[in-house]
Amino acid sequence: MSKLKIGMMMLSGALAFASCKGTTSGTTDGKEKAASGYSKDFKVEAEAFADLQLLRYEVPGWDELTLQQKTLAYYLYEAALCGRDIYYDQANIHGLTLRKTIETIYTTYKGDKNSEDWKKFMEYAGRFWFSTGNHHHYSKDKFIPECSEEYFKSLVKNSDTTKLPLEQGESVDAFLTRIHAPLYDMSYMPKMVDLRAGVDNIANSSNNFYEGVTQKEVEAFYNNPALFPHSDREPEWGLNSKVMKDASGKLIEKVWKQGGMYDAAITKMVSWLEKAVTVAENEAQKKALSLLVEYYKTGDLNKWDEYNIAWTADTASRIDASIGYIEVYNDAIGKKGSYEAVVSLKDLETTKIVSKIASEAQWFEDNSPLMPEHKKKQVKGITAKGITVIVEAGDAAPSTPIGINLPNSDWVRKEHGSKSVSLTNIVHAYNESSKSSGMLEEFVDGKEDMDRIKQYGSLASDLHTDMHECIGHASGQINPGVGTPDKTLKNYASALEEARADLVALYYIMDKKLVDIGVMPSLEVGKAEYYNYMMNGLMTQLTRLKLGDKIEEAHMRNRALNAYWVYEKGKKDNVVELIKKDGKTFVKINDYNKLRTLFGELLKEIQRIKSEGDFNAGKNLVETYGVKVDPVLHKEILDRYAKLNTKPYKGFVQPRLVPVMNGDKITDVKIEYPTSFYEQMAEYAKGYSLLPAKN
Ligand code: ZN
Repeated sequence: MSKLKIGMMMLSGALAFASCKGTTSGTTDGKEKAASGYSKDFKVEAEAFADLQLLRYEVPGWDELTLQQKTLAYYLYEAALCGRDIYYDQANIHGLTLRKTIETIYTTYKGDKNSEDWKKFMEYAGRFWFSTGNHHHYSKDKFIPECSEEYFKSLVKNSDTTKLPLEQGESVDAFLTRIHAPLYDMSYMPKMVDLRAGVDNIANSSNNFYEGVTQKEVEAFYNNPALFPHSDREPEWGLNSKVMKDASGKLIEKVWKQGGMYDAAITKMVSWLEKAVTVAENEAQKKALSLLVEYYKTGDLNKWDEYNIAWTADTASRIDASIGYIEVYNDAIGKKGSYEAVVSLKDLETTKIVSKIASEAQWFEDNSPLMPEHKKKQVKGITAKGITVIVEAGDAAPSTPIGINLPNSDWVRKEHGSKSVSLTNIVHAYNESSKSSGMLEEFVDGKEDMDRIKQYGSLASDLHTDMHECIGHASGQINPGVGTPDKTLKNYASALEEARADLVALYYIMDKKLVDIGVMPSLEVGKAEYYNYMMNGLMTQLTRLKLGDKIEEAHMRNRALNAYWVYEKGKKDNVVELIKKDGKTFVKINDYNKLRTLFGELLKEIQRIKSEGDFNAGKNLVETYGVKVDPVLHKEILDRYAKLNTKPYKGFVQPRLVPVMNGDKITDVKIEYPTSFYEQMAEYAKGYSLLPAKN
């Protein structure tokens, strides 16, 4: 599994001074452009509310594209947005009903829009759209409107009720009764993904991947070789379907394909993908896109593998996209893929740097601290590039990854390699917005560390992302006969996999090799990353949790696990300390080299756990170091954070592509940068509401 979210960037994003792209190179479109193609006067911030900040990103390089490339990007952009409804329905069975209700109010309510209650409704609407439903996008906890239910009902009644998702013959009052529990009852479907140990993780998760089935039944279903044959080249069984029971009580899959579940959205998406095939840049891309179309038409997961093999082989194209059911974090047992889409163009400058790293993949594998039998004898071609995002949708928006490594299938990766990307214009926008957050000043102690982080923090976190995606996920191998991690490590698989990838990055960011290949100037970069990582893992990532919460999200568990494990193990040598100054806690690293050795030891152990499928050891590590939160420290961090001018979660308003037509011929495609997230949600509601409320 392979998506790196912004969590660890939270601080280093503030530190972009080292990569400040200050030089200007003349004027385009009446705007001053920086050398890197970013406009100097581009406003990065859009709306902010609750714990969320919306940002905007530019697409440098768009104007350099040929008409064919722009047209291809446009078709993929439309295909990407066609799947938007799918993710709402995957996230929760009531997701589309509630969203259509919110949209109706937002666009047609005729009453007072200045009251405090209206502001509370607006905040709820914003949070709902941001999270693709009423479970927080990160914590996965349910949230409800701050305004009263009576007020909410009055909003509905004073809006255009013909636009509500009423069932046949249903009155507005009956509708309001029906949505009461999903909308206002906190005890109803409280958690989108429930990863607690010792409970039925499927029955207790309120996503819409399963209905009326228990975890035991589902596991038995997928372990039945008559239905899902085991092999060395096994597809990602279960990835593209909902599981429920038929009339006789037998488990069945409802497949997300043309003619199956989500037919209307997929049919439209396929029509755009078919257009994209006609303007593909080369044969390799044409083949990949054609296979993707076939996959959506058949739902055949072997086709999905074929597509991924073809997609991995296409490294020459400037325009690229992933549009599919891909990451499995939203399923407690890691089978069901959430719909996501990222359409991009290759960033040629950044690609040079990540290519240098990728081309040394075998060296990194050979020199890693893994046990010899867990090392890949031959690391298959990892291609790495920087990409400039054009649009994101589904699980990739508005909250976005900053690095992606695909495909996810272990055997495809082993035999055909993978593509690793860092999302450079997204990271740029993060960096721009964090410059004034005040995080560093509050949480970093000591001039030496502060100076180092200011100078190298941004580069350090870029390199960490590159190493995590490109070397980390691709490293190591599973022992023969041991099943895939979703089977052996179950609900701990995601956190352990992310921990492993981070540890590879951490181990090597203090290695002279990175200096030798010319991607960083000195080991000072590694020290900056160590400080940042430890501060985040031990302390500042807690800003994302409410008091009393435990850590659940895979990447957060991974960071806490790595940071607390090395902190504990290094205690006898005083490697890392938590010191107190004026009642404030700070991280102090006393021995960077020993810290590196500890990261290496943990990497070796987690690889062993994955290679051998040692569930108990994996569970023990995660539960001991990756889940618990010290309530006293947590409160302190939250209090300090509350005084800063920043929000813990950021997401993005998407650019808009507008074709210029001459008859039915596209003569150009313009890019526009909308300024309002709310207006974008209303626009999407108009253009891309393709599914009924119930699917
Ligand atoms: Zn990852």
